[in-house]
Amino acid sequence: MDCLFCKIIHNQIPANISYRDSQLVAFDDINPQSPHHKLIVPIKHIVTLNALQPEDKELMGSLVLVASKLADELKIAEEGYRLVINCNSGAGQTVFHIHAHLLGGRQLGWPPG
Ligand code: AMP
Ligand code: ZN
Repeated sequence: MDCLFCKIIHNQIPANISYRDSQLVAFDDINPQSPHHKLIVPIKHIVTLNALQPEDKELMGSLVLVASKLADELKIAEEGYRLVINCNSGAGQTVFHIHAHLLGGRQLGWPPG
């Protein structure tokens, strides 16, 4: 499948992978928007939030738990961080394999642009 994140997940394209289990992979964003910027990506190829099915409930719960564990390891849990999933081009999604951005290490503005 011609998908950038599937290729990273299957080690066909290099990335700085910091977490992997049977369901999820996390790696550094190549164009970081904050001092810490990781992507947490299900191994299952799901295109957008709109394609989620009831059977993905446990997977997406695990994704959030992995994000909070990584935030703790990065020592940004106390100061604060953001977990973002962009859905479709109007929200800035550019890679159509669902992923969450974990952003932290600086003061993050709100609302986002
Ligand atoms: P989104 O715009 O929400 O779809 O996020 C896609 C993210 O993937 C962007 O923040 C990109 O910087 C990031 N990205 C694109 N190519 C790579 C790559 N080869 N390795 C790591 N991150 C990437
Ligand atoms: Zn994919």
